[in-house]
Amino acid sequence: AKRQGRNQVVYAHQIQDREIERRLVLETHLQAGIQKDEFFVQYQPLMDLATNRLYGVEALVRWRHPELGIIPPNSFIPIAEESGLIIPLGRKIFEMAFADFAAWKTNFASARDLCLSINLSVKQMLQSNLAADIQAMARDAGLSLENINLEITESLFIDDMERAVKTIRELKTLGICISIDDFGTGYSSLKYLNQFSIDLVKIDKILIDNINGNLTNYNIVASMLELCAKLNLKAMAEGIEDIDQLEKLQGMNCPFGQGYYFAPPRDRNIIEEMLAGNMGS
Ligand code: C2E
Ligand code: CA
Ligand code: CA
Ligand code: CA
Repeated sequence: AKRQGRNQVVYAHQIQDREIERRLVLETHLQAGIQKDEFFVQYQPLMDLATNRLYGVEALVRWRHPELGIIPPNSFIPIAEESGLIIPLGRKIFEMAFADFAAWKTNFASARDLCLSINLSVKQMLQSNLAADIQAMARDAGLSLENINLEITESLFIDDMERAVKTIRELKTLGICISIDDFGTGYSSLKYLNQFSIDLVKIDKILIDNINGNLTNYNIVASMLELCAKLNLKAMAEGIEDIDQLEKLQGMNCPFGQGYYFAPPRDRNIIEEMLAGNMGS
């Protein structure tokens, strides 16, 4: 039994070593991928549910790996976060999205009031020079910072409240809007978000998934929307997949929505076709 116990300990170490090794390999690939510009951005339409018009787009990063094909963000963003590579990768994402957005504003009248939303992880938000950095990148792209929105998660406030509040204040001074992503999965209350002058709350897909079948979820979403309206917070429902969900949300006066029902994330050129057509104009 003793021997077996010792073997188990050895085995556990081996697993841990292999996990560390796997992460190091991925981290090395990630670093090389950033240098070789293997990342690109897709855009998912954000809809105004009252008018059924295009309100904006959310930039979502993908990795075009030479051997493995297209890798979704959930497979590499956590490693980019832990290794700190999210900082150079995040900068590339801004550069790509800002360049596209600037071109759309120049080329399409329908893009004039369009909003561009970009996801930021906690590590990015805790950089002391974030606001100045974004300002410089916008200037390089010839872009004004109006209609730029940053999506952050509630976990930011747990990590370093003081820094978070300071960064949000700096970003808001530049005219940037702030959204809380995945709302309803964390701990913060809407009242508390209101105090930080958050502009928009994105209600997590998990809550939207069951608004048809589940009365509790329906009631939770309905009261969230009511409170958002009272607090002057915009609200967006994530992960709308069918017409029943959309009609329920419209019935609750949910102002904005996003999901496969409207469109999945699309390549830049498809968004351009949409802007050239009549959608959103
Ligand atoms: P998120 O910010 O919550 O983004 C929404 C995710 O839900 C996207 O997955 C989107 O494709 C997916 N989605 C949208 N509508 C529907 C729907 O109707 N049904 C279903 N099943 N899914 C839907 P994606 O692109 O794989 O991104 C996953 C996560 O990776 C994002 O979640 C975000 O946390 C992170 N991420 C993506 N791009 C970036 C980025 O540029 N920077 C950072 N820091 N994180 C990013
Ligand atoms: Ca998001
Ligand atoms: Ca989300
Ligand atoms: Ca999410």
